Amino acid sequence: MASYKKNQSIAQYQKFIEKVYAVPGDRNFSLEEILVQHQRFTMRALKGIRKNDQKKLKFNLLDSFSWSFTIANRLHFSLENILWQRFSYLCSYCASVPCICKIKKVKKRRKIIVDNTKRPKSLKGFQKMFNEIYPKEGRTLEHAGIHLAEESGEVSEAVHAFLTNQTNRKERFLNIKEELADYISCSFGVANSSDIDIAEGLSDLFYNNCLACHKAPCKCTLDSITNFPS
Ligand SMILES: [Zn+2]
Ligand SMILES: [Zn+2]
Repeated sequence: MASYKKNQSIAQYQKFIEKVYAVPGDRNFSLEEILVQHQRFTMRALKGIRKNDQKKLKFNLLDSFSWSFTIANRLHFSLENILWQRFSYLCSYCASVPCICKIKKVKKRRKIIVDNTKRPKSLKGFQKMFNEIYPKEGRTLEHAGIHLAEESGEVSEAVHAFLTNQTNRKERFLNIKEELADYISCSFGVANSSDIDIAEGLSDLFYNNCLACHKAPCKCTLDSITNFPS
């Protein structure tokens, strides 16, 4: 039986998603179709914000968070590593904690100096880190949701640019990694703004293989995914 436990790391969560969803994902979905699912659940989470429906927001935020790992697995990179390289207990833009982008009107991305001693060991630790870099008091939940939508579009844009261009492959691939890291950062932002504990939520959903069919690898039919209730 595969499961995700609430004290585990992001890397362990990615491994879990690979174990349960890599086989059906690779066989049944193109990368573009995976992106459609990623956006679909992101938009459902945003609907949860608009409708003030915490249950809808939480479930769909966790689901879109999980589809992010299917993207990373499909492209064979570690989401935890890129997340840490980009946000090493510092804002990825102003290189401060807490972020001072708004106060100082920072116009140019500052260089980040990575201090590996600060790297959180668990997914929960990363959520806490993001609340220290971007405290929830600095934005509304709606603002966090709009930012998540922006980043979800930028992930699609980056993947599209990679798939349709033969030039600058290395840079374009790095861009996908960075955009997905930004998306995850914004997922933590929405979670922090709505008091959702992502690690707890994932451990409640993924206590026994796939959250719906409870098999590993997942045996959910394409119809059941298409008709998945929101
Ligand atoms: Zn900043
Ligand atoms: Zn399943």
